[in-house]
Amino acid sequence: MLNLAKIKEELKTACLGNEIHYFVEVGSTNEVAKALAAKGAKEGTVVIAETQTSGKGRLGRKWFSPKGGIWLSLILRPKIKPKDALKLTLTAAVAVARTIKENLNVNVSIKWPNDVLVENKKVCGILTEGMSEGDEMKFVVVGVGINANFDLAVLPRELWETATTLREVLGRNVDREAIIRSFLEYFEICYNKMLAGNFKHVLSEWKNFASFLGKRIVVSNTKEKMEGIAQNVDEDGSLIVRLEKGDLVKIFSGDVSIRYKN
Ligand code: ADP
Repeated sequence: MLNLAKIKEELKTACLGNEIHYFVEVGSTNEVAKALAAKGAKEGTVVIAETQTSGKGRLGRKWFSPKGGIWLSLILRPKIKPKDALKLTLTAAVAVARTIKENLNVNVSIKWPNDVLVENKKVCGILTEGMSEGDEMKFVVVGVGINANFDLAVLPRELWETATTLREVLGRNVDREAIIRSFLEYFEICYNKMLAGNFKHVLSEWKNFASFLGKRIVVSNTKEKMEGIAQNVDEDGSLIVRLEKGDLVKIFSGDVSIRYKN
């Protein structure tokens, strides 16, 4: 079980984690966070659960959330337009990557837009959701799931090739409270940069973790499939892909899957 006091005592943030709602089990921390946000929960409120029974990935895909993981959601109230919500996904990915690298001395990379990988396998997923009013976000919920202290064998067999856990990589348990603290601290630093109009600093750090730039990828949604080279990530967080014929396409939405080609 997480020790909340241990998270709070040494937490060096101004806002993030000032209020933490802790649950042993929830459907999904994003659902709880969205409900709290709709009722007026303050910016920086965090929802944490030991396990989720219906954790979600993008497009409603299932996110497995066994005991021992870190399943949390942040409630944010940035004055941004809906299309800028993608920046928060990238911000969270940078904060998780930095946390894993600095705390555990493990090599980590990021796959656009929302996966953090160790040894090329997914160790963390991020799901950003929100509610807009007119052309402004009323609130944004950033859900972060980190496969921390459980064995890969706990996940369904079809994920064994593509997923990993911190325990699997290190051969020991990690200090989940320390990871949560670092994540909240790094996130707040990057988030403040973004709010101050300096997202380019966050993006350049993001690019340092992005191992797939310059590589051949397949981008697919339910209707079509495109093959090309992952050329760059734009200032707005979108992915620029150079297709076979040389055309450039800009991919914004979360409704695509990306697969690397060897
Ligand atoms: P994508 O990898 O396409 O960005 P999502 O971010 O939507 O996918 O995450 C959902 C997918 O992640 C699921 O369809 C499943 O393949 C995989 N998955 C589910 N739970 C876990 C987990 N705990 N660790 C790693 N991968 C997972």
